Amino acid sequence: MVVTQCPLCGSESLEERRGEYQATAPANTPGGPMVIPNATWHHCAHCGEELLPRPLTKALESEQRRRLSAAVPVTS
Ligand SMILES: [Zn+2]
Repeated sequence: MVVTQCPLCGSESLEERRGEYQATAPANTPGGPMVIPNATWHHCAHCGEELLPRPLTKALESEQRRRLSAAVPVTS
């Protein structure tokens, strides 16, 4: 496990989390919270910041893109 520092508070009390990652969808993205299964990320026990590794960020991005393309605005 790679020990990193929290970029927000500088604390080294990062915990590795595994499982289902839930993220709040951005304001322009429909569908409610985005859930990524089998994810791994770090959680800062000190300030609550969550550090997402690149694959998880990518997964969230593609999920967001999928939702945005699915929500084609209806033109009247
Ligand atoms: Zn922190």
